[in-house]
Amino acid sequence: MENRTVDVAIIGGGVMGPSVAYHLLSQGLCQSVALFEQDPMHMHSSTGLSAGGIRHLFSSAVNIALATFSVRFYEQFAQHMATEAGPGPDVAFRRNGYLFLLDRQNEESLLRRADFQEREGVELERLDRAALKDRFPEIEVGDLQGGVFGVRDGFLDPYQVMRGFTQKAQELGAQFITERAEAVEVEAGCAVAVRSAGWRVAARLAVVNAAGAWAGDVGRMAGVEVPVVPRSRQVYQVIPPSAAFDRYPLTIDPTGFYFRPETGGRVLVGKSFDDDPRDFVWDWKRNLFLDAIWPDLAARVPVMENLRLESGWAGLYEVTPDDNAIIGPHPDLERFYVIAGFSGHGMMQGPAAGLALAERICLGSYRSVDASGLELRRFAEGREYREDAIV
Ligand SMILES: Cc1cc2nc3c(=O)[nH]c(=O)nc-3n(C[C@H](O)[C@H](O)[C@H](O)COP(=O)(O)OP(=O)(O)OC[C@H]3O[C@@H](n4cnc5c(N)ncnc54)[C@H](O)[C@@H]3O)c2cc1C
Repeated sequence: MENRTVDVAIIGGGVMGPSVAYHLLSQGLCQSVALFEQDPMHMHSSTGLSAGGIRHLFSSAVNIALATFSVRFYEQFAQHMATEAGPGPDVAFRRNGYLFLLDRQNEESLLRRADFQEREGVELERLDRAALKDRFPEIEVGDLQGGVFGVRDGFLDPYQVMRGFTQKAQELGAQFITERAEAVEVEAGCAVAVRSAGWRVAARLAVVNAAGAWAGDVGRMAGVEVPVVPRSRQVYQVIPPSAAFDRYPLTIDPTGFYFRPETGGRVLVGKSFDDDPRDFVWDWKRNLFLDAIWPDLAARVPVMENLRLESGWAGLYEVTPDDNAIIGPHPDLERFYVIAGFSGHGMMQGPAAGLALAERICLGSYRSVDASGLELRRFAEGREYREDAIV
């Protein structure tokens, strides 16, 4: 067994763990970081299986603030992540926008939300039915009232984000241990160390639970509850019959499905269902697309009647009771911090969330983005955020 003492020990190497490691070290907030990752090929981590949508169109101020900071960060990502070997990875951030389609049922609430978003500084356009048809002629608008379009939004390549944070954090001195963390040692009400098969890493300042859908398990290792559960979500990659979709935004239909262009003329399609398994399962369900998504997609975008379903995958959302992230100290265990449970919007919050937690650990408060409203104690204090812009 190898032994080491660091300032901060992190469990989880998706987007959140490396983002925390990067910000701790690049801001000079602490001197030494070790990070445990059980799945170095990222076969199952949510980050590698994400659709990569990036938007400001949320219904709470804290989520808009996290997205605003993160979008600015992504604009300069390759520079921030530059190492001695050259610029950081190209995350292929495409600013095609984000489009919520409005029908009679959702129109009032989405327009009220748009008023709030504008007051929070979000740049958006309200499109009436004619403007929608004019800009996106492939969409069937007969039953629609219009759309809300996020001007500065788009999508990117999540895997490259994770790679950038990882490489840069390593260059700054973070040690990545590719083993499963098996225990969090607790002494006198304090998290003090993390153990794996080959390592015991003692932590002077903090143990960070950045374990995504596994955050509940890592909480149990430390003897505390972290209310994050997995939800298996499906993604489908299709080849549309026309190249028109390359300039399309990430578009969300009132029936719940979304689609966005992917490289090589392909289109990604997905939808969350109430009965998606709440378990660690990654089975891809081809028939779900054929039976429960394609008919609605072809009704909304008639040329999609002639698409070819090429492939797809399933990944885990990491879901909390109010569909919002948990960022900050655990109220029942000193020096134990959580950054998990992003409930399907972690890519658009990863840079800001990592910095917020790094500041909270080392400075005792949030300086760059105020994430205090997302601390775990909100559940016990009855201050849940009911985010209604969940996809
Ligand atoms: C299908 C799908 C579509 C999505 N679409 C979007 C989108 O459009 N926009 C958006 O912003 N977000 C989206 N998300 C959500 C986003 O991908 C996640 O919120 C984000 O990736 C979570 O990052 P994370 O680092 O918390 O978790 P993960 O990426 O899962 O990383 C956690 C890591 O912890 C490791 N780990 C767990 N337990 C241990 C242990 N005991 N020891 C060592 N390592 C451990 C795991 O192996 C894993 O690699 C989507 C997710 C999915 C699945």
